[in-house]
Amino acid sequence: MMLHAVVKPRALPASFSIVPSEGLCQRSGTRRLVVMNTAAGAVVEEGSRQKDGIQRLTIVQPDDWHLHLRDGDGLNAVAPLSAGVFRRAIIMPNLKPPVTNLSAALAYRDRIMKALPSNVEFEPLMTLYLTDVTTRQDIKDASESGLVKAVKLYPAGATTNSQAGVTDLFGKCMPVLEEMVEQGLLLLVHGEVADQTVDIFDREKVFIETVLTPLRKKLPKLKIVMEHITTEDAVQFVESNTDGMVAATVTPQHLLMNRNALFQGGLQPHNYCLPVLKRETHRRALVAAVTSGSKRFFLGTDSAPHERSAKEASCGCAGIFSAPIALPLYAEAFEQAGALDKLEGFASLNGPDFYGLPRNSNTTTLIRKSWHVPKEYGFGPGAVVPMWAGQALNWNIE
Ligand SMILES: [Zn+2]
Repeated sequence: MMLHAVVKPRALPASFSIVPSEGLCQRSGTRRLVVMNTAAGAVVEEGSRQKDGIQRLTIVQPDDWHLHLRDGDGLNAVAPLSAGVFRRAIIMPNLKPPVTNLSAALAYRDRIMKALPSNVEFEPLMTLYLTDVTTRQDIKDASESGLVKAVKLYPAGATTNSQAGVTDLFGKCMPVLEEMVEQGLLLLVHGEVADQTVDIFDREKVFIETVLTPLRKKLPKLKIVMEHITTEDAVQFVESNTDGMVAATVTPQHLLMNRNALFQGGLQPHNYCLPVLKRETHRRALVAAVTSGSKRFFLGTDSAPHERSAKEASCGCAGIFSAPIALPLYAEAFEQAGALDKLEGFASLNGPDFYGLPRNSNTTTLIRKSWHVPKEYGFGPGAVVPMWAGQALNWNIE
């Protein structure tokens, strides 16, 4: 990674604070000096947002390890936006009907490739949707294709199009999970119990206790990615598995917003996603985890577009669209934590390393430049409203 810093001598303030954008959490703390791995060996201020800090940041091109591309007109609208930023993406299988076997995955992959401009290099890494009736043969076929990298576990009813999800993981699904170990396919989990009697803010913690902990005991050789983690409990769970078999993706929204953002000045449907935003202590735990240098946390946007009218409705859909702006959003989060030097590991290195795939060979450069997130993007005949629509960001892709 190359950090291009321009550092001028100046009086050092005793503390810093960050001007909050809407939905962004204010913080302050003791200012520290940190030597970053810059080409010039420059000393830059941790937490500094001063104009004469780092101006450019060149990293290995990132991948998105959790992405919803939808289908049809929606797919055609959003696939080029992801492909403009990321080299590869793990494609979520929760279409209607879900992608449950190799032939459906290959057909979906073809539709994705057709939606891309011809001059873009983008590799969709396909996944299967685990159901109670998935077979060992489905897993073998998927693995042998080389195009399917993982299987996604949705507890039935947990999120968008999850009605076909698993109801009997430790019974009907066990032979399939054993086959995944043999074939080296990863299990990606939506880590929330679907039990409606459990408080929505506790569903991740209860899932860890009742599903993940026993699953690890039964199948210690199964590689697991806990998707879009939202709590301190999930961070601790990942870190407590010291055998390196468990990792987690983290979204930009869960790094930059807490649950207050759902209700700021009125109900904010574009900040609603599942798992739902949590309280500030959890957001801080996620930021600490991704900026710690741990190799087991990596970028997964969970970018999940819905047509504007499906969000701004009496019963609005869950999902935040972030794909084209995700990298600048992550840069904001890492800069607030004074950890821009950790962004490359999180965005570009830890994911392929955990999946056992090669790292990308080309680079992406971020530049410090104030700009505004578009108010909407085209989405088939309608529009999709992105995260932080209309708000200012300090970083953009060169
Ligand atoms: Zn998702």
